[in-house]
Amino acid sequence: EIRVRYAPSPTGMLHVGGVRTALFNWLFARKNGGTFVLRIEDTDLARSTEASVDQLERSLRWIGLDWDEGPGIGGPHPPYRQTERFDLYREAAKKLLDSGAAYYDFATSEELAEMRERARAEKRQPIYTGGEYREMDPAEARKKIEAGEPYTVRFKTPREGQTVVEDMIRGPVTFENSNLEDFVLMKSTDTPTYNFAAAVDDAEMRISHVIRGDDHLSNTPRQILILEALGNTLPGFAHVPMVLGPDKKKLSKRHGSAHVEEFAAQGYLPDALFNYLALLGAGYAADEEIFSRDELAERFRVDRVSGNPAVFDENKLRSINAVYIRRMSPSDLADMATPMLVESGAATQEELEADRPRLENIMDLLKERIALTTDIPDAVGYFYGGTLDYDEAEFEKQFGKDFVRENFPELAERLKALPEWTEESIEEAVRGLAAEKEKGARHLIHPLRFATTGRTVSAGLFETMLLLGRERSLARIEDAAQ
Ligand code: GLU
Repeated sequence: EIRVRYAPSPTGMLHVGGVRTALFNWLFARKNGGTFVLRIEDTDLARSTEASVDQLERSLRWIGLDWDEGPGIGGPHPPYRQTERFDLYREAAKKLLDSGAAYYDFATSEELAEMRERARAEKRQPIYTGGEYREMDPAEARKKIEAGEPYTVRFKTPREGQTVVEDMIRGPVTFENSNLEDFVLMKSTDTPTYNFAAAVDDAEMRISHVIRGDDHLSNTPRQILILEALGNTLPGFAHVPMVLGPDKKKLSKRHGSAHVEEFAAQGYLPDALFNYLALLGAGYAADEEIFSRDELAERFRVDRVSGNPAVFDENKLRSINAVYIRRMSPSDLADMATPMLVESGAATQEELEADRPRLENIMDLLKERIALTTDIPDAVGYFYGGTLDYDEAEFEKQFGKDFVRENFPELAERLKALPEWTEESIEEAVRGLAAEKEKGARHLIHPLRFATTGRTVSAGLFETMLLLGRERSLARIEDAAQ
């Protein structure tokens, strides 16, 4: 049975690198008909916050990484928060102490600091191997504990041999055991370390594949030693590289966005971000890039994930986002635009609801020109409201007012008199007048575009005027002619 987990520490917002790791787990589970578990690793009490737990869960739901087991859902291995699983860690520690795989260590922090200092002076790696405590008679250790001496529980790391991580992405990675110290399993406060809690939970939750950030690669030999000492079979391991900015530095807000919530705020659609991140460094052929979640899951192969850091390309994400916007139905586009137009003050809710077909037509016309949902107020706002507040000097400079003053009143008359307000009838009126004046149509079309939309670039002018409506178009043309 395939069981994978995403195990975030709730110490901040969900980062792109983190969500990509979660996504690879999700794809792996979906592809193999497996189970995707969410486990909250909140043992670092000083840095974990409830707000961060909420935010992580919200971000995962927003992007559509629904978990099959975990907080809010439950499952056969509860609870799914490490702070609620301390009994399990104590039990596992006892098991390792009883079997002799772990020992009580009574070294004080001064002694440890001194040891490290000495190693540094002698240019050795500061590797703690337990000194007298490693082989201390358990009866003696118990006496010290009863006497109230503070202690930690450490793993009795083999002094010889190697521990090999069989990584699904980078192949075997070998660690010399002599370079691993007798690492702490339980801190003096009786709380587990990350390595211990993660290994115990992966075993207890029957995790079959551990897919996580490669910043944890150096922890994996320790977790392997723990799992073996507890008598568990090992899961598969895949260490996913980081996501870097175009400057090859760790992705951060400097690059635009780094956290899922920022992408949402900047106008990215969850499906587009999902699609982009699933492709990022995943080793798919580069010729196609728009895939549904099912297609992505179908194609996902963890052993194809690149072992090199992925470079985040915001332009590519933006172009994928534009495709997703273009593919939305007019009705979904209108639903999305409504609150944004109300919020920006372009139109009222009542107005938008009263002429919903018009909004749908506008969105259908403009969807090609919208890359981010946050473009909507600016791209659509001028279809609402009366006369425009544009840059008169710019208008004068671009078109010269004389020509406009001379021809706009006449044009307005003709448009007013049209028996029907259609794209064709508007076009005929405009081109007809230009022809009569022996001018190219563009001499009317460009200033007309500016007068009716307040911009030099828009969708087709006649379609635009059709959707602006006759009254609004005329008001703007007359305003420009003054
Ligand atoms: N809690 C760890 C982190 O957020 C992840 C641990 C793991 O996946 O094993 O970095």
